Amino acid sequence: MDFIDKITGAKLSRRSFILASAAATASLSLAGCGSSLTQATADQAADKEGKWITAACWHNCGGRCLNKAYVVDGVVIRQKTDDTHPDSPDYPQQRACVRGRSQRQQVFGADRLKYPMKRKNWEPGGGKKELRGRDEWVRISWDEALDSIAGEIKRIKSEQGNRAFFADGGPAAKVLALYGGYVANWGTTSLGSWTYTPGPVGFSSSSGDSINDRLDMRNCDTVIMFNMNPAWSSAGNPVYHFLQVKKAGADFIAIDPFYNDSYGLLEADWIPTRPATDTALMIGVAHTLIVEDDPVKNPLIDWDFLKKYTIGFDADSMPPGTDAKDNFKDYVLGTYDGVPKNAEWAAEISGVAPDRIRYLARAMNKNKKVALLYAWSAGRTQNADNLPQMAMILGAMTGHMGKSGHMCGVSCHSGAANGGDTLVSPGKNGLPTVDNPVKDSINHTEMWRAIVDGKYNFTGNKKFLKGEMKDIDIRLIYHDNNARLQSADGMTKGIEAHRKVDLVVSHGQFLTTNAKYSDFVLPVTTEWEKIGGFLTGNREMLIMYSQITEPLYEAQSDEWIARELAKRLGVDASKAFPIDAKQQFFNQIAGSTVILPDGKTAAPLVTITAEDIAQWGVQGKPQQGQISLKEFQEKGLYQIERKPGDNYGYIAFKDFCDDPEANPRPSASGKLEFYSQV
Ligand code: SF4
Repeated sequence: MDFIDKITGAKLSRRSFILASAAATASLSLAGCGSSLTQATADQAADKEGKWITAACWHNCGGRCLNKAYVVDGVVIRQKTDDTHPDSPDYPQQRACVRGRSQRQQVFGADRLKYPMKRKNWEPGGGKKELRGRDEWVRISWDEALDSIAGEIKRIKSEQGNRAFFADGGPAAKVLALYGGYVANWGTTSLGSWTYTPGPVGFSSSSGDSINDRLDMRNCDTVIMFNMNPAWSSAGNPVYHFLQVKKAGADFIAIDPFYNDSYGLLEADWIPTRPATDTALMIGVAHTLIVEDDPVKNPLIDWDFLKKYTIGFDADSMPPGTDAKDNFKDYVLGTYDGVPKNAEWAAEISGVAPDRIRYLARAMNKNKKVALLYAWSAGRTQNADNLPQMAMILGAMTGHMGKSGHMCGVSCHSGAANGGDTLVSPGKNGLPTVDNPVKDSINHTEMWRAIVDGKYNFTGNKKFLKGEMKDIDIRLIYHDNNARLQSADGMTKGIEAHRKVDLVVSHGQFLTTNAKYSDFVLPVTTEWEKIGGFLTGNREMLIMYSQITEPLYEAQSDEWIARELAKRLGVDASKAFPIDAKQQFFNQIAGSTVILPDGKTAAPLVTITAEDIAQWGVQGKPQQGQISLKEFQEKGLYQIERKPGDNYGYIAFKDFCDDPEANPRPSASGKLEFYSQV
């Protein structure tokens, strides 16, 4: 009996039938197999002892939670979450949400891609390209799929050269790089204008270095949240951390078009706005700060902070060689254009009443301990280029940076509610970097248009500067690492691009939008079928997950596919993958580090013995760490136990505020720039 038969065809005893019935609502049938996982798992549970194994949750939601799967004889019976230590606000368990806890329904879902497929009307050169997305699929062997793809790659290269290949950057792209190169892509739809605006103005796009750590946030009087919903978007611990801030006495104010679960939980004072009007609202707030501030009777602005750490606020602080009239203050007051950007002006645009705008300005005054927190979401609209700069300006005007209880920055994804350097990290896997000889790289916002129109804006390494238009003629789209067609802007134009080129290939676990518009679809393994890996992002802990199940159906790893393509293209795959997956995983374990209780010293995390190395069958050296390899694997988690007053706290921008000369910001002036010449 092979593995698939085992998990789908276990004999149904009377006892297992009862268990199966009880579990029926929590399990999912494997369509077309004449049995179900529910029956199989219940049957196994009735007869055998199993083992809890740490299982990956790869949704990248920002939660970063511990998931465990109970595996009996290779079959997953049920899941649970973190119970490695008692839960407390300072040292919380990493509890998974329902999506993570039901991940087995995804891994064993009936909609998994089971074998390689090609589009029925595909033929060399593309065949009926207009049928991409609505053609029928034909099951084929791995050899037929890989031979056909490699044959087309060779043909396209001989006719058009390597600038005709467009790829994501995964393992197959490494092989294309060894084969002469490919056109890459850059940018991120997730961050929007937070991708490149913060750097040139001296700010930051990440929670990691722009907000204080979660224990320090409890010192805030007021937390002002712009367009955030961590209860949905980072469903692990971030909202739990915010709840501790509320319990410590902070008020919450929320600026958002929608009232959401996070605001409800935190009893936030909601200020509803029109979508995509945040920049205008913030300028109106700045106007109120300027006109109402009185350093003696009504101190709202931190003038010392402005003088010491910023440029461009007023005519006196403009950089040399610029027109002094272009300063921020005179723009806001309307000194030269006759349009004061006051609360009434901002109200017209944002829909927020003028008295609420003035209330917001007063709520962030310099004498209170305030957190100004932003999510990336508002930067994902048109004309939001200045939004991150305005976010920084409000924090700089009110001096909410560089001090305990004061902060201004991004709070979302894996760093939501908890800023600071990473304290526990995995090591490198030992794979070399492969140089891509083709230097073209297209921004996500224009990649589909570029493929359709044959032109794009080349920016080289200075990605936030204006570039030069270049011709491009893409013939191959290779998706081996991402879900660009469904997750990047402009799906309609993307479909047009996919129907234009000669060949589209997708690796996938499911028939994603990428896959639907492809000629060849290659089934790949999930994280549960791989030897293991790490979940990073939460600064205080590192999750190490292990293999849960054998590869299902005919699925193969992305790296296996890349190696097979390399063989057919006549390139040496060992230049990209000189070591196997097990050695890569072991290298990461051996290279893991943790910051010791002094808050400064990085030390090896895992103790590895000569017996461990022999048992794994890998190359390595014994080492002393903080946790044995066996215990780390069994627990699946190494988490630092935080306590108030420990050395793991973090105050964002403190280095800069303590010594701006020695620790300049990444702007041209090294300061926070209200006026940027970039
Ligand atoms: S919150 Fe995110 S990381 Fe945590 S279990 Fe849910 S989906 Fe997975």
